[in-house]
Amino acid sequence: MHPARLHALAALASLEAAQATLTQYARHARQAALSGADDLGTVQAWRPATERQAPRALPANPLLDAIVLQVDRVANPLLERARRTADTLAWIAGAVLGDDYRTRADPLAQLRAVVPALQTSTCETMTRWLVEQDRLVRQAAGIGDDLQLWPGVACPGCDNVVLALQMSGPAEDRVVVCTESCPCAGEACGCGMPDRAVGVAHIWQLTDLRARLARGE
Ligand SMILES: [Zn+2]
Ligand SMILES: [Zn+2]
Repeated sequence: MHPARLHALAALASLEAAQATLTQYARHARQAALSGADDLGTVQAWRPATERQAPRALPANPLLDAIVLQVDRVANPLLERARRTADTLAWIAGAVLGDDYRTRADPLAQLRAVVPALQTSTCETMTRWLVEQDRLVRQAAGIGDDLQLWPGVACPGCDNVVLALQMSGPAEDRVVVCTESCPCAGEACGCGMPDRAVGVAHIWQLTDLRARLARGE
């Protein structure tokens, strides 16, 4: 598979894991806030208790909903980040998939499915967006990046910088990246990637790179 596609899949897997963790944290924070929301100083406390427990069962109140949503956002930055990233993901999926984008299905799953058919330039652009969202989500959730350093192995692309394993996604497709995101120089590049293209960030399938190192290349 072209490295740009591998990179896109790795970015999707990383963001999916990060977004799941953030959503979990946000839910816990929300639950904690709601359970302590009986003080009369909060907008939540204006709602009847039954409505707070089962909001869908009662007639909607758009104005109150809007106020509560706003309070939620201010009070719960985790939830706000998760929502913003979900919105951005929907936008990315819409931009990449066009008419094929289905609003009710998971945008990450739709993007993953279409990666093999995408042009490499589209993959690269998409990956940049995904990596940015991944960074924001991990920052908000207080979790580290998706990389596990691989000490003792120099980058075959830029030679003297540390390599790292991208840990999300299936173990059999594990990929390795350069911590400096060094770009490929194309056909003449010594990186050993099977499909070299100028400007693409270096990325290797772990199994390929291990085999190459074993051969002493
Ligand atoms: Zn490098
Ligand atoms: Zn290269």
